[in-house]
Amino acid sequence: MPIATVNPATGELIEEFASLTKEQVNQRLTRAEAAAAMLRATDFDTRARWMRAAADLVEAEAAHTARRLTIEMGKPIAQARGEVLKCAHAMRFYADNAESLLADQPLADPSTVGASAAYTSYEPLGVVLAVMPWNYPMWQVIRFAAPALMAGNVGLLKHASNVPQSAMYLDTLFERAGFPVGSFQTLLIGAADVEAVLRDRRVAAATLTGSEPAGRSVAAVAGSEVKKVVLELGGSDPFIVLPSADVGAAARTAVTARTINNGQSCIAAKRFIVHTEVYDEFVEAFVAGTKALTVGDPLDEETEIGPIATESGWRELVDLVGDAVAKGALLRCGGSAVGTEGWFFEPAVLEEVTTEMRVYREEAFGPLAVVHRVDDVEQALKLANDTTFGLSSSVWTTDPDEERFLISRLAAGAVFVNGMTVSYPQLPFGGIKDSGIGRELAAEGIREFCNLKTVWKS
Ligand code: NAP
Repeated sequence: MPIATVNPATGELIEEFASLTKEQVNQRLTRAEAAAAMLRATDFDTRARWMRAAADLVEAEAAHTARRLTIEMGKPIAQARGEVLKCAHAMRFYADNAESLLADQPLADPSTVGASAAYTSYEPLGVVLAVMPWNYPMWQVIRFAAPALMAGNVGLLKHASNVPQSAMYLDTLFERAGFPVGSFQTLLIGAADVEAVLRDRRVAAATLTGSEPAGRSVAAVAGSEVKKVVLELGGSDPFIVLPSADVGAAARTAVTARTINNGQSCIAAKRFIVHTEVYDEFVEAFVAGTKALTVGDPLDEETEIGPIATESGWRELVDLVGDAVAKGALLRCGGSAVGTEGWFFEPAVLEEVTTEMRVYREEAFGPLAVVHRVDDVEQALKLANDTTFGLSSSVWTTDPDEERFLISRLAAGAVFVNGMTVSYPQLPFGGIKDSGIGRELAAEGIREFCNLKTVWKS
């Protein structure tokens, strides 16, 4: 796969990059190792000062950065700006809170272990390799980098091959803000070169956000090297609507939850599971809302849906719809190409989807929704959990018993009640089953790449 920026709205090749030679990768690893020693010796206040300076740069450069995101992967420009500003917010969150999140944890009664004092402390692991996807080219990286650097770790970024301009922007960001040379570097390499980097003795751990096969591959290498790994993989999140819910609000939110970021979000709601009593009302509003979306030039402020990021991703969506319709699904709207250039896909809603259809099990990475009808809350739960994924979920009800039941029984890393799934720096983020291992964000995220050191004093 070439390392290149190709505008998905036009198919035009904007810029191609050569991948690094082995020697260049080696130089960067040497720099990273040296930076890890330096960063470990700095205190929280110093790192926080640098992190705030980096957030200032991100904010000052937001307009340019947002335009770059839109041209590289097609998200609507207003959403690109939102992504960039969210990055600055997370950077400030970790600048402000890293020290307290990583404070020593004393044992309340050290006499129970025969000590005068006992506590645990968090220490950086060193160089962490981050393999990242293209769907949020800034946010996915920053939500790793901000906590990692604040903990005193060093980052090496292998970004997705279709967002190299974003990768190169991130390559210099932290150094420009004052962090030591080598604290955060981009490696312009292909997926096949990841294994050698991860096996290098100078790399302590890895995190991957992306597809399940990529995650399995990196986890296998990390496992054989006994190196810590965090995986944030795919999702096919359920969005359950029950009769006591505000159905209008649920349907409006459902449109956004399915189509934000051109539908290319791991935590997008993908399967809409609706009680029969409110099914028709929900589906009519959901289909109408989906049809009303403005599809077009992502640089236009009015656009709500831009192109799919890659031709292969676009083809995959068209094939998923074709397979479902051929096997009897009802296509309520969209599902075909829009225009003659670029990879635009008209947002689609499918009903009457059955287990033989690929879209029942596979993650639809684009604006393609599946709506299921259920008779009761137990059936809703069964269908919601009938997936190999377990990232997040959304539940619409005002009945406290139903709410309690679903919160405790949904097999997912998160449950959002009467709202759509959103990531916040304050809340842990991650999944179970094939959606991944470990957590990002909040206290859990910054602690993932720390050595939890136990200290016992006689
Ligand atoms: P992808 O193909 O897995 O690519 C993600 C990253 O992994 C890219 O940098 C890619 O490099 C690299 N990669 C691919 N195969 C690899 C391998 N065998 N070994 C090492 N690295 C490898 O995924 P994508 O198509 O970019 O992103 C879409 C997927 O990511 C969806 O499944 C989505 O749900 C998931 N995702 C999950 C989260 C989350 O937080 N849970 C967030 C966003 C996206 P190349 O580009 O060079 O191939």
